[in-house]
Amino acid sequence: MAYLRIVTEEDPILRRTSRPVEQITPRILQLLDDMTETMRRAQGCGLAAVQVGVLRRVVVIETEPGQVLELINPRIVAKSGHQEEQEGCLSIPGRWGITSRPAAVVVHALNRKGEQVEYRGTGLLARAMCHELDHLDGKLFTDVLVREGTEE
Ligand code: ZN
Repeated sequence: MAYLRIVTEEDPILRRTSRPVEQITPRILQLLDDMTETMRRAQGCGLAAVQVGVLRRVVVIETEPGQVLELINPRIVAKSGHQEEQEGCLSIPGRWGITSRPAAVVVHALNRKGEQVEYRGTGLLARAMCHELDHLDGKLFTDVLVREGTEE
């Protein structure tokens, strides 16, 4: 595995739309492994491929230590409720804020074997899913900020 450089806010790539993965190649599997290592080393709970400079719809999330969700071509198929909690982003170091997000979401994606999977998230996991999926469409948490926060 390799640690990848995380691009920061000034890089215009973060505003671009990521392309779907058409085939799960060894390169995509390597990307998943490298993204997990990068997320862990940076002490984040989620990372989108665009944040390491790859415009593919690939996300890793780890809100429960040891339980990494690997999402390929993820999409939100249902959402409910509302929450306002503090959020940050590995691409926007030092900035925190309260965002408006659904309280619960259901995500469909492919796993690394190409199988269709469904994940249900509430609380922090729902926020992480929304945050990371937003990255795939060039959106940042600062776009859904309710107010500025302080470092956790
Ligand atoms: Zn982020």
